[in-house]
Amino acid sequence: MSSLLIKNGRVVDPSQNLDVITNVLIDDGKIIALDNNIDSADIVIDASNKIVSPGFIDIHMHEDPFVDGKPTFSMAKSALLMGVTTDIGGNCGDNNYDPIEYYKYLDKYGSYVNLGLFVGHSSLREKFDINKYCPASDDVIDKMAIMAKEYLDQGLLGVSFGVKYVPGSTTSELVKIASICHDSNKLVTSHVRQDEDEVFAACEELCEIAKQAKVRVEFSHIGSMGGYSQMPQLLKQIDDYRNQGIDMSCDCYPYNAFCTSIGSTTYDGNFLDRYHSDYSHVYLSSGIYRGKYCDEELFKLVRNNYPETKAIGFFMNDEDIDLAYEKEYICVGSDGTRDDGHGHPRASGCFPKFIKDYIKTNKLSLLDGINKMSTFAAKQIGLINKGNLKVGSDADITIFDLNNIEDCATYDEDLLAPKGIDYVIINGEIALKDGEIIKNNLGKAIRI
Ligand SMILES: [Zn+2]
Repeated sequence: MSSLLIKNGRVVDPSQNLDVITNVLIDDGKIIALDNNIDSADIVIDASNKIVSPGFIDIHMHEDPFVDGKPTFSMAKSALLMGVTTDIGGNCGDNNYDPIEYYKYLDKYGSYVNLGLFVGHSSLREKFDINKYCPASDDVIDKMAIMAKEYLDQGLLGVSFGVKYVPGSTTSELVKIASICHDSNKLVTSHVRQDEDEVFAACEELCEIAKQAKVRVEFSHIGSMGGYSQMPQLLKQIDDYRNQGIDMSCDCYPYNAFCTSIGSTTYDGNFLDRYHSDYSHVYLSSGIYRGKYCDEELFKLVRNNYPETKAIGFFMNDEDIDLAYEKEYICVGSDGTRDDGHGHPRASGCFPKFIKDYIKTNKLSLLDGINKMSTFAAKQIGLINKGNLKVGSDADITIFDLNNIEDCATYDEDLLAPKGIDYVIINGEIALKDGEIIKNNLGKAIRI
């Protein structure tokens, strides 16, 4: 492997509280030195006037499905284009494919970016054919716990819940499954039971799980759970838990619209009442009706016949999202998800949009912003060699132009790549140069 030198960049590493112009030497996949005096290597990148950051870690996304024996590489490609070096999938209770088989594929062929996976609780329930509205029997819960433990023993990162999507699951079921993360101190993430005015009770349930199972918990995409004017009170509730010693953190995406399958429980029954809205605020972002806003007739037709269609709900407040990002324990996660290769623009633009909206505007400092995009996520997952630029760490690095960075993906054109990502280095090699992908197989399976 060639040695690589990144010269004259503004090197920012929240883990060392570092913000300095220096040179970074990389060899054999690792960071070898941060030193102004080193000025040559096999390959030299001039990063003058650019930010040299630990590669972005997307702590909350939904991995590509497998088609014809391999991942579709739609999400993974978009991740690389927006500066992400490590994707974390298996979120919201869902595994798109057996995680061990996924890892085996990556071990053999690589991917656009590194990928780590959680064990999805809803996917375990599906293996036992448990109806989403029904509780599981004690016997099945025991079997699911054993199965989840086997996955963790093979390196999976923790357990994810999508309680909102499987309302039949009881708190005691969730505690039992979460408990398997206790010994290894692995993370438990949850798309909690309910949003809007019921989010407080849902947050309390997550706190109960953390307490009873004695585990660290991540409240998934807090913006889409409490972004309907609940955020001030919800953050106070979480502050209180943290002050009591509960290790609860959150992720959030910088958009005011959520996205999920139109057939999911999010769109059950009285959803328009709960969001104080109407059908015209639901936008279809995949499938044959892609690009259309709903009316009652179209909504019902698509929900009944094409339940996998991604439907975007424009119901959230920007002010709630801004408030969330003020908290040091809330990091960036795209929640990107696609069907038929299309979905919410966050899968293509989340990180550049966060930089544009929060760092460029000085709502957050560069160090705090990069912490939320990388260092904090690595710490939560337990990746000690990622999310930082320490000597000896994995050389996953994103070089970007703070002045020109911009997300380009829109609700109509959700696949447009961002501007301002100059280089992405994954495991010590250049994956992306001047916005163009030059190597698509440098990503590895992440096991802990
Ligand atoms: Zn979710």
